[in-house]
Amino acid sequence: MQQYLVESLKALQDHLSRARQFYQVVEAAPGDAHWQHIIPPAYPPLSAQKPQSSAKSFFFAEQEPLYVFDGQFFRETLPSPEPFVLFGVQSCDLTAIHYQDLFFEQDVYYQARRRQALLVGIDCVHPCAQGFCYLVNAGPGVRDETADLILHPLEDNQWLLVVVTAQGKEAIQGVALTPASAQEMNQRWEQLSHCEQEFDDHSYITEGVERLNRGEVSDALWQRIGVQCLACSGCTTLCPTCSCYGTQSQPFVSGDGEPVAKAVEVSGTLIKEDSGAAPNTEQPATQQVRFWDSCLYEGFQREASFNNPSAQAGERVKRFWYHKFSDDFLPEFGRYGCVGCGRCEQVCPGVIGVHSVMKRIVDDA
Ligand code: SF4
Ligand code: SF4
Repeated sequence: MQQYLVESLKALQDHLSRARQFYQVVEAAPGDAHWQHIIPPAYPPLSAQKPQSSAKSFFFAEQEPLYVFDGQFFRETLPSPEPFVLFGVQSCDLTAIHYQDLFFEQDVYYQARRRQALLVGIDCVHPCAQGFCYLVNAGPGVRDETADLILHPLEDNQWLLVVVTAQGKEAIQGVALTPASAQEMNQRWEQLSHCEQEFDDHSYITEGVERLNRGEVSDALWQRIGVQCLACSGCTTLCPTCSCYGTQSQPFVSGDGEPVAKAVEVSGTLIKEDSGAAPNTEQPATQQVRFWDSCLYEGFQREASFNNPSAQAGERVKRFWYHKFSDDFLPEFGRYGCVGCGRCEQVCPGVIGVHSVMKRIVDDA
């Protein structure tokens, strides 16, 4: 892999933003960082802070139409975003994107966005609050298979740039860069190793995961934990690997907010004709909308017969944590469904994020 010394981050940002929409994490206040669309050349300082929300919604939209039925035809509503760059994605969130790339491999809506993205990772050189990425092979250094380009901070406002993919190589064509020295490249591994040593002792997470996989967590404990769940969906919303969604039929609304009544007013590519029935131009057009759902909601698994396999909150939190840490998912994804970002701990009003749950599993032994 080619590695370069970047003396002017702005020159790199300017170059990448020429042919792409540009997004970067902005720090509004300590502890309050978020992804934002940046209009060049007003680049904010490159933040080391973990954004409150991951980059998940850039690809898996929080809400989007899947198709429109105009009374006669089904029309597709595939997104067609312009090329964009996510500049400075941390390792845990990149690992989550890689995980979701597998989950949504056959999802044309996800892939339409994903194809347009250039991912520029940034190594973490200090642990973040509640983070334990090192324990689940998700950081603090960016994993090669998850990014197109990787930035690593060196001294004196200089950066090491690692070119990982052909797309990354093509993206930096024309930028004046100096090949990095062996010392600069080594500095990356030294700083990452030092960062790993700075993490607190999280051995209770390892022990908790082992107990969970040995089936040693009692249903009584899951019930006690479940009582604390308010079903607010904070955890599933912020978790970068959560991918549950629901779908719902809604009136198709035009740009001015009015329901569309005539078949001819709906644009889009024809994807499937109706069964031959005469078009109904009086009935408002409908759209099938997909939205983020949460497995912590009581109705998430409720069936049409009203049978509910996870009617108890304890069953729901148990399933959530098995989904994150069960060995059963390793053959499919090659890793656990948790990337160690710690957001569930930070957001949960019921104090049942990953650290709290794993400590209770261990203490209950
Ligand atoms: S389970 Fe918690 S720590 Fe793990 S990836 Fe999801 S939000 Fe982050
Ligand atoms: S586990 Fe916590 S964050 Fe998740 S839905 Fe329940 S109360 Fe909300």
